[in-house]
This record gives sequence, C-alpha cells and structure tokens, in this order.
Amino acid sequence: MIYLDNNATTAVAPEVREAMLPWLGEFYGNPSGGYRFGRQARKAIDESREKVAALIGAHPEEIIFTSCGTESNNAALRSSLSLRPERKAILTSTVEHSAVDEVARFFGETGYDARFVEVDAEGHLDLEAWENALADDEVAVASLIWANNETGVLSHVEAAAEIAAERDVYFHTDAVQAVGKVPLSVADLPVHALSVSAHKFHGPKGVGALYQDRHARFQPLMLGGGQEEKRRSGTENVAGIVGMGVAAELAAARLDARESAAALRDQFEEGVLETVEGSAVNGDRDRRLPNTTNLFFPGVDGEGLLILLDEAGICCSPGSACSTGAVKPSRILKAMGQISSRARSSVRFSLSHHTTAEEVAEAVSAIGTAVGKLQVVLPAGGGRVVGGSGGK
Ligand code: PLP
Repeated sequence: MIYLDNNATTAVAPEVREAMLPWLGEFYGNPSGGYRFGRQARKAIDESREKVAALIGAHPEEIIFTSCGTESNNAALRSSLSLRPERKAILTSTVEHSAVDEVARFFGETGYDARFVEVDAEGHLDLEAWENALADDEVAVASLIWANNETGVLSHVEAAAEIAAERDVYFHTDAVQAVGKVPLSVADLPVHALSVSAHKFHGPKGVGALYQDRHARFQPLMLGGGQEEKRRSGTENVAGIVGMGVAAELAAARLDARESAAALRDQFEEGVLETVEGSAVNGDRDRRLPNTTNLFFPGVDGEGLLILLDEAGICCSPGSACSTGAVKPSRILKAMGQISSRARSSVRFSLSHHTTAEEVAEAVSAIGTAVGKLQVVLPAGGGRVVGGSGGK
C-alpha cells in the first residue's frame, strides 16, 4: 500500500503507541482519584499538556483536552456566541472544514447572521471583505482555517486575526491541519482560540485540544464533573492524551525537516504534471502545507481515478466525499471559483515523513496508467498521458 492520504489521518508513531500502552493496561486509575494511583494519571495528563502547549507556543493552562478537532471547533464557536449574546453574527470563510462550516450554517438557521467571506482562485481570503463584514460590530466570533485540508493553502491568519482584534472580536482558528506540519505560535498573534487534533500528526484518534487564551472568557460545551479546570467535563482519555503529548514532541522535532517533506511533495507533483498532459495544481503553490497537493486531471472522473488507484494499492482522497459515501464536487474548489467539472476531476494527495521517493515514483506511474485507462472510457476533454508507461 502507498498511503497518500495523511490529511485524512496519519499512522500512529511507534513511540506514541508505546507511551500509551501502560495507560490502557496497569495504570487505569481515574485522574480525579485522590490517591497515588489516580495522581499518576493526572501527572501524565499535565506533562502532555506541557508538550502540546510547547508545540503551539501556549501556556500549559491554556490547553483544554477534547475528544477531537471537531469538538474543539464546536466548543470555541459556541462559547464565544453564548458569551456575547447581544451580537448576532458569526463570521467565517467559504473554505472551512465542515466542523466550522456546519456550525456557522446551524447558527445561520437559528437566528444568527452567518457571514461567509469568499476566497480567490488561489484559495486566499478577501481581506477587504473580511474587514467590511466586521464593520457593523455585530460579529461575536470570527473563525478562519489555518491550513486548508483539501488544498493545503495557508490562510493569511495573521492579517485576519489583526483585523478581528481591531474590532474587538473573538478570533478562532481551525489549525487542525497546520499544527505539527508548519511552525506556528499563538504567542505572536491575537488569537483567542485554536483547534488541534492528535490524529493529524501521528497521534491517536479521538483526542484533540483547544487552545483557549487564559485572558479570555470561556463557556464550556460539556458540563458535568468539572474536569479540565471546569472547561471540559468528562473523565479524561488518559492514554489518548499521553499519546498526543508524545506525538506533539515528535512533531516539534520534525518541523525542521519540512523543507525535505516539501521537496518530496514537489517531486511527486512535478512527476504527475509531466506525465498527465493538462494536469494542474489547485490553489496557491507557494503558500501551502509542505505535504499536500491537490491536482486537477482534465476530462478524468476523479471518483474513477480513486477507484483505479485503490486497486493499485494507492490511498488518496477526492476531498469531497460526504459521510454517505456519495461524491459531490468539492465545496472548497468551487469556493475557489472552479467549475464543477474541474472540482469533480481533482484529487488530493497528502504525504508524510513515511513517504519514500520510491513510493512517489510508483504512484506517479500508477496515476499515469490509471488516467490512460480512464481516457479510454472517457475520451473527450483531454487529460492525455504523455510518455512513460501511462495509458497501457
Ligand atoms: N478541521 C480540519 C481542517 C480538518 O482537516 C479536520 C479533519 O479532517 C477537522 C477539523 C476535524 O478533526 P477531527 O477528525 O479530529 O474531528
């Protein structure tokens, strides 16, 4: 198998798994227990808190462990709306992950003014429109994705956050795809909340974190036993949290290698662009995650391509499958002004430090072959394979 879907999830690092095992075995004490057996678990959680905080330049007490990135997004947005009930608007972009997009839409249907600022063809926010959308002082919370999960494009978060700060608006960023892949620090920015998810950087699934500025108020989503300093009730996922801490440490150590990660991605991308005539990259090629490329194959049905690549043992993503499995043209690519046919003919490939040059070469050749086969089925519209063994 050649796994090129690391934006969907990543392999759990062996060090992470090892660190988690004792907390799934002999050390099963409840971290709230008033005895040593419980206090051990509490200490392990607090050590992880420090590691996750270090990865994003936060203070440990600003880290709230959650069950996933989706929960972190929901908690941040709902908290800020409920703390400012006099403000009846929520501001975000048209290229958010559904864990922000759906929340904004939900509030839009229940009395709020949900404002979605558009992006350009490269995937970048219209900052003037962002500023205008904040001008009437109705916005309770502004939320902008840090790195897009489908294209890898890195938003101008700094500028958007500064504009929100000028209007005294609570600013949240969904940094689920960015954390661990590019250096970032909340210390440098007027960011009130930032979402993180462990399984995107070789940690376990089912654990995330919300950075919450210690000077800003917070209204918990989960009420109950008062864990996480009353900010997120529920007995902690100790093993998951320990795993997240180790994954954060490993990710921090790998950040220096992001240029070589980008070089491998570029090698893959160039290989595909040379092999498939007319293929092109979606989104800004300069300002994006080092591991991601979203490629357009003209005249090729993206779903068909995925099936053929799956048969060849390659995992990649349309970036557009909804939970029912039905494939719709990508909402993100459409928001970038692409017509439905281009959005339907695009596929996301996301690499990791496990990806090798041999895998990249094999994947390029398999893509060439698959596109060639699809042209036989779908001859119109270009997407011809040039040279190599493609098309046989
Ligand atoms: N935000 C972004 C940008 C994502 O890519 C994802 C996962 O795909 C999420 C949020 C949701 O994270 P989780 O799977 O931990 O709920």
